[in-house]
Amino acid sequence: MNRVRILTLNAALGILDYSVPDGLHPQPGSIVEAPLGPRTILGVVWEEDRLTGDAVPDAKLRPLRAILPVPPLRAALRRLVEWTADYYCAPLAPVLRMVLASGGALGGPATTTEYRLSGGMPDRMTPQRERAIERLEGEQGSIREFGEIAGVSEGVLRGLVKQGVLEPVLVDVDRPYPRVAPDFQQPELTSAQREAAAIVDAALAQRTFQTFLLDGVTGSGKTETYFEPIATALAQGRQVLVLLPEIALTEAFLKRFAERFGVPPVLWHSSLKSSERRRAWRAIATSPAAGGAQVVVGARSALFLPYADLGLIVVDEAHEVSFKQDDGVRYNARDVAVMRGRFENIPVVLASATPALESLYMAEQGVYQRIALDTRFGGAQMPSIATIDLTQEKPGRGHWLAEPLIAAMGDRLVKGEQSLLFLNRRGYAPLTLCRNCGYRFQCPNCTAWLVEHRLSRRLACHHCGFETQPPATCPECGEPDCLVACGPGVERIADEVRERLPDARIALVTSDTLSSPGRATAFIEQAQAGAIDVIVGTQLVTKGFHFPELTLVGVVDADLGLEGGDLRAAERTYQQIAQVSGRAGRGAKAGEVLIQTRHPTAPVIAALAAGDRDAFYASETEARRHANAPPFGRWAAIIVSSEDESEARDAARAIGGARPDHPDIAILGPAPAPMSLLRGRYRYRLLLNARRSAQVQRVIREWLGELTLPRTVRVSVDIDPYSFV
Ligand code: ADP
Ligand code: ZN
Repeated sequence: MNRVRILTLNAALGILDYSVPDGLHPQPGSIVEAPLGPRTILGVVWEEDRLTGDAVPDAKLRPLRAILPVPPLRAALRRLVEWTADYYCAPLAPVLRMVLASGGALGGPATTTEYRLSGGMPDRMTPQRERAIERLEGEQGSIREFGEIAGVSEGVLRGLVKQGVLEPVLVDVDRPYPRVAPDFQQPELTSAQREAAAIVDAALAQRTFQTFLLDGVTGSGKTETYFEPIATALAQGRQVLVLLPEIALTEAFLKRFAERFGVPPVLWHSSLKSSERRRAWRAIATSPAAGGAQVVVGARSALFLPYADLGLIVVDEAHEVSFKQDDGVRYNARDVAVMRGRFENIPVVLASATPALESLYMAEQGVYQRIALDTRFGGAQMPSIATIDLTQEKPGRGHWLAEPLIAAMGDRLVKGEQSLLFLNRRGYAPLTLCRNCGYRFQCPNCTAWLVEHRLSRRLACHHCGFETQPPATCPECGEPDCLVACGPGVERIADEVRERLPDARIALVTSDTLSSPGRATAFIEQAQAGAIDVIVGTQLVTKGFHFPELTLVGVVDADLGLEGGDLRAAERTYQQIAQVSGRAGRGAKAGEVLIQTRHPTAPVIAALAAGDRDAFYASETEARRHANAPPFGRWAAIIVSSEDESEARDAARAIGGARPDHPDIAILGPAPAPMSLLRGRYRYRLLLNARRSAQVQRVIREWLGELTLPRTVRVSVDIDPYSFV
């Protein structure tokens, strides 16, 4: 009897066995439909011996329904799915769901109707119609997209369709993307860049797995450099994946990419429309020779897509914390990228000016190959860095910018140069309280203060998205007009700049203001055209941007990130400040960085001011070794949560009570999480600190596997955690 084992997309269903009816020829990786009770479910055929589960007797098997008309998942990807689930202590099903990330893509070919101007005119012209006809010149798209482009209602557009002014066009949903031209606009690389590119090219030529750490100072031209191996992989007819940490950075990247390769790459991120997802997924599953996707640029989720013939992976700004996913499958895309490279047997490039300590350590150990770019492109110098001691240079009450910083900004304004102020806090003020009774506005769902956003007149929680309007009176004591803002956010800093430098043209750059690709593009163009004097922004402005006239960077509060005693606080502070400093003086003019701090002698700040990266990494490495922290030992967290406080506590205690006794693993907790309420769930944490050699994942699986907890309790495991809240 012919039977198969399939992996389903639902962790509760897990693994199921089916018989194969005549005429179907499934193979490992085939995506299939199968009956389950009255329903039809999706699954992927897997090698039977790689999945544990009791075999169902032949007589009880139901037959598979169909094999879907998409290529089977390749073995390298099946191994990656298994590795990810195993390493991150996650079920296989949610990992597989990241692979099959577009339901629509799994059906057959499809067409859709789009519209374009026919050249005809309506029998009666209205201002709305006139505007639509003007703005839709040369465009083709759906009625909904046209509504957005033209800024008119769908009713107006349907009227134009009826009159024959807009004519329908039948298009293939999965039409291929325009072809990339590897030699479209090749820049002249510097000799250092050329050598760096050649090292990766050699690995491409040999078609072997190797991880490269492209460790280049800000402005050294890392992008130009890794574009060369991308061109090489394309010439080999293979696909390339570039992971970017932040969608806000994508616009600038797309522009550079198109300048170099003639057309933009294929984009993948979570807010694609379902038709775009489908088109991208199907193109990715098709080899370039057959018209498939060539270069894919995406957020971390692009890592699990079913590339037909992946030849190279680049992780840009590889040190970025946002590569770590903190819900669902808690994976780190940087690390999974290296594993994917290994299973696919292809090179992986991790690019950064401030590599993670873990990555540098791997390079030191010879596991990764470090490629250094030590100087800026075009003769630009690294900026000079100085601290401003806030205990000496105190800004006035309700102000946060010290006089030397204001003076330096004023100087740039006179010279027609640009300044950038960095503060990693969105909104106007991080805390609002009542002047009369001291009442503090807190999120009802989270252990967090509500942040005042004055531009949008809201008090908002940055953890769950809760929003409310600031009330006219205090909800506690009823006093009118009594709310005071405590502390600064970027909006408040922008106000201060406006007050001190009334002539300055200011741009506020946060995820609130740069919320769409259009806005990001507009900002970049304005800054490049010199229409902005002062940029005030959050971590969003710390990386990627290249503005040659920007010569001054001010760090508003360097101490902010050091509070809270997180394991990586010092490293993160170093990276953020080094990155934002890297925005200064990238053109012909020298850059200056002023760091406001109350602790100018703290090791991180001193290392930054001295420009001594090696000293910082050396002392941080020793601290990690001492704490048995990564890369020496490893951490894992177990987070227990429930909507019911006592249920969460009891479950955490039950887990704590069943703790294994392992000589190489120390277990701390359970204790209430610092964020003890998050999105309406009460939370407890346990923390494991293990020797590198200990098999933490196996210990955790066996430990948790033996417990039965109420279904309303959620237990998540976080291997190599970044967040300790
Ligand atoms: P990094 O990512 O290392 O900070 P970028 O890749 O942004 O640096 O490069 C800095 C600037 O120098 C960019 O404007 C880039 O276009 C330019 N650049 C770098 N290398 C070259 C080159 N070989 N030819 C022309 N321009 C270059
Ligand atoms: Zn909240």
